[in-house]
Amino acid sequence: SELQADVPAAASAKTGPGAFSLEGKVALITGGGSGIGFDMARCMVAAGATVLITGRREAPLREAIAAIGEGPAQNAAHYYVNDVTQLDTLDALVETVEAAYGPIDVLVNNAGINLKKPALEVTDEDFNRIIQTNLNAVFALTRACGRRMVARQQGSIIMISSMAAYYGIDRVVAYAASKSAVEGMVKVLASEFSGHNVRVNAIAPGFIETEMSKVAMNGDPDRRDRAMRRTPMGKFGKPEDIGWAAVFLASDAARYITGASLPVDGGNSIGF
Ligand code: NDP
Repeated sequence: SELQADVPAAASAKTGPGAFSLEGKVALITGGGSGIGFDMARCMVAAGATVLITGRREAPLREAIAAIGEGPAQNAAHYYVNDVTQLDTLDALVETVEAAYGPIDVLVNNAGINLKKPALEVTDEDFNRIIQTNLNAVFALTRACGRRMVARQQGSIIMISSMAAYYGIDRVVAYAASKSAVEGMVKVLASEFSGHNVRVNAIAPGFIETEMSKVAMNGDPDRRDRAMRRTPMGKFGKPEDIGWAAVFLASDAARYITGASLPVDGGNSIGF
């Protein structure tokens, strides 16, 4: 039929459960030594990818690799000590990774920091620190990887956004600004790369149990209750809930999805 004729043989080769596999793909995940990035690395290794994680501190990265690399997963995950805010190191990071493991198919911009302070107390230094990590570094690394992906006509880029980009959440002004900006960037990059088989999407996690959310909830006994009341499914998410969403967006099963922001939030984004 006409419809079938529209689907080139190569594009329809991977159908069924195989389309969800990351077999043969190389994934670079920033901030993979803990929290969401760590579980995302585990999920991607389980899906068959070779995964490279980064972070500023070596000890958690080493432990993460030891935890991931058991059994058949051995040699599927490796780490690089790298601070994403050192923008002039990111081209070299990508080059080093590709020289060792081959072309990067999947980039996940996961490394991020938060700061909980009333807006009027936020200094320029505070603001810039958050923006440097959550926005400037995301752009610089995406440009370094994106250039190569566009040239190869192959790639999936995933940003980790937040409910803070969707809603006004008190005391996270710089964080919200950075995540909203990332959402904007996703749409522009998705459009510019759309003719090159490079997809760009965001995942917007709700309340996920990690070190970051623990810190955000601390010092505010009501905050946990409020967050729970705003979560229709009545429970907080686990890092691997974000991990499996990332596996999907990275995989060929998501080959027609670009420019999207996928909430993984137990229903927070349903609203009231
Ligand atoms: P964690 O604090 O648990 O982990 C953050 C990771 O990023 C750490 O491994 C840290 O390692 C790394 N990191 C921080 N700064 C840098 C840097 N400059 N260069 C390289 N690595 C860095 O946080 P989460 O796992 O909770 O957060 C991961 C992402 O998910 C963030 O983008 C966050 O904004 C987002 N998110 C989280 C939510 C939650 O509820 N937890 C909700 C919505 C979004 P090291 O310190 O060694 O560098």
